[in-house]
Amino acid sequence: MIDYGQCLPGNNANQEDFDWKNDTVDAVFFTHYHGDHVGRILEIPNNVKIYMGETSRQIMLNIHRALAKIPELFDEQIQYVKLLEDDERIVELKAGKPLNKIGDIEIVPYMVDHSAYDAYMFLIKTPDENILHTGDFREHGYRGSKMVKVIEKLVLKEAGGHIDTLFIEGTMMERIGEHTRKESELKEEAKKIFENNKYAFLVCSSTNLDTLASFHKAALENDMYTYCYSKYMLGQLETFTKYAGKYSDLYKFDKSFFVELDKIFRHKYFKEPKTQERIMREKGFLCIIKPEEKYKKWIERFADLNPIVIYSMWDGYLDSEKDAYNEKWAEFFKPYKENSR
Ligand SMILES: [Zn+2]
Repeated sequence: MIDYGQCLPGNNANQEDFDWKNDTVDAVFFTHYHGDHVGRILEIPNNVKIYMGETSRQIMLNIHRALAKIPELFDEQIQYVKLLEDDERIVELKAGKPLNKIGDIEIVPYMVDHSAYDAYMFLIKTPDENILHTGDFREHGYRGSKMVKVIEKLVLKEAGGHIDTLFIEGTMMERIGEHTRKESELKEEAKKIFENNKYAFLVCSSTNLDTLASFHKAALENDMYTYCYSKYMLGQLETFTKYAGKYSDLYKFDKSFFVELDKIFRHKYFKEPKTQERIMREKGFLCIIKPEEKYKKWIERFADLNPIVIYSMWDGYLDSEKDAYNEKWAEFFKPYKENSR
């Protein structure tokens, strides 16, 4: 089986249960960690092996360990943590490395570019045919241009020059009448914005590595540090640095800190100890927050510096016409909407 996910919020399609008892499954291969692909992982019976990327496993562990700290979520979340920590159940994927055969099927994973880092497509070699399952993918990330080359050079070679069947996921390639901004363009745009606005709050998915990297680098090039609203958020940046930072400096999140505005910092270049707030005021900052009331206090605390608030997620969450509309979020952004672009 490839992926076992949940319907996305606002999607009213009937979610059917898979008959695990009668339809025997040897293994489940996860393409990436988005909920619509991995969301029902707990329902997989204990005797079924689970295949996923090494970084995906770590990113998910960070999420579920953080959620398990919320008392009312503990019982469910600890089950995810236990499953993800279990080396008997989880097999880690390595890009381009064929896996042990499952029955007479051989599967080779290849990395694809997606807003979830560590996303895979699978070449499935059966005795009868070669199948390529793309998983979610895109073209506009930092590694987007590589996909065709990977298929031409590696996948086809491994497949003996021939793919019989191709499965493509419901992937956004472009929207009509809309330019799909490349991540590299986003970075340049953010850099220009920060040249004139050194006090920036950012709302962005904690698992969207490329976009986080774009803003982080744009900030760093303006000598601004990055601050995270929670230890969880900082932990995700550290995980990305550890696993993705091996391959590219772009994914190294240097100068990233946890927000503790009143904490005192000493440094050999400081004439006197300074609070974090003072350092942020002097140098500027990129502060990652969530659209929740408690973070409004931080924005208000810097109000005299006219900070900007950047929303870098799907605009459907703020659109009351859409099923996935999030009223609380829309309420949060209302005061900042006027100068939106
Ligand atoms: Zn996805």
